[in-house]
Amino acid sequence: MPWALSVPLLPEESLSSWLVRAAMRQGCDPLSLTGAIWPSWRVWTRDIDREIPLTKIRPLVNASGNAPDRFKKAGVRDDCEKVAGYSLPEAQAWPWLLALGSRNRLRHGGQQVCTLCLAEDSTPYLRRHWRFAWHTGCGFHGVQLIDECPVCKAPIEPHRLSAEDQHLAQCSRCHEDFRKEVCTSPLPEAFNFQVLADRVLKTGNVTFRQASIAPDDWFSMVTFFLGVVRRASRRPVSDLGIALLSLDIPVTDSRMPISGLAFELLPVSERSALLAAVERLLSIGFEETFSALVECHVKRSALHDPRKSPPVVLLPLLSRLSHHPHGPHRRRVSSAYRPMSERAVRASWARLKRRMKAEPTF
Ligand SMILES: [Zn+2]
Ligand SMILES: [Zn+2]
Repeated sequence: MPWALSVPLLPEESLSSWLVRAAMRQGCDPLSLTGAIWPSWRVWTRDIDREIPLTKIRPLVNASGNAPDRFKKAGVRDDCEKVAGYSLPEAQAWPWLLALGSRNRLRHGGQQVCTLCLAEDSTPYLRRHWRFAWHTGCGFHGVQLIDECPVCKAPIEPHRLSAEDQHLAQCSRCHEDFRKEVCTSPLPEAFNFQVLADRVLKTGNVTFRQASIAPDDWFSMVTFFLGVVRRASRRPVSDLGIALLSLDIPVTDSRMPISGLAFELLPVSERSALLAAVERLLSIGFEETFSALVECHVKRSALHDPRKSPPVVLLPLLSRLSHHPHGPHRRRVSSAYRPMSERAVRASWARLKRRMKAEPTF
């Protein structure tokens, strides 16, 4: 049975945004709307922004009157597969897509918004690109995105709003209107990175050391350097830390993550700090960076986990570094008897706080 009120998808709108708006427009809660379309499919326990599978599309097309290809375009699968370079399995985290960390219908995070975009919309809605992990700022307004309610710190979960809430520019827990928030400036280097990554994804190829490489090669290369920066920030007095600091790469920025969580799970401030450092490294260039690494006697094993092979495009550069990984083997005290380092305590505290976010405060 088609809906009485049609709800077209807005430019660049994400699928979850559209489903929430469609529900409010029909005067019902998102859960009731999706329950009516798909009685035996629990939409909100999954990341519906990724895609609506072909097998599920028909009842939605019938009810909404929107063409199937509009829904396909609104999903992020195609873009995410360009970034990853392979077909992405459903039951796995997708690289460079913010993870929602769903548990039932509760989430840990993973949704960002530009409050000024929401304020200017005649009908506030969420953009697809706010889910990409390299997005930390708004290209139109030059402000940092927010990924939690500024008042109660809850993650942004529009699917938990109800029909009475009427619009999705608000916190589902405390109902703070995001449109009146004071915005902060993004880190310019992190924003430069965002522009660059968007361009790589859009143009479909990029020049790397006089050769043309595919977007997935570029993203795996920057993923590698994110890991390098995180390693250096953990040990700024190591050879690696000293080498990067000598290039003015800000590995000691106080916003660097300490939790050890995957990049796609980090809050916007921590991702910004990491991306700013990687952008600085990219703008210095690989020749200069690797020369500094060689000068500071950085071993190849200091850059990455030896169990994971580095991106092929970086192998010629990595071969310049000494390969001998460790000095004399030291016996370690069994971890059960070792006190936790301050860093380890802070990291587990940060992970615990993220888990607690998913619990309602009332
Ligand atoms: Zn904006
Ligand atoms: Zn709130």
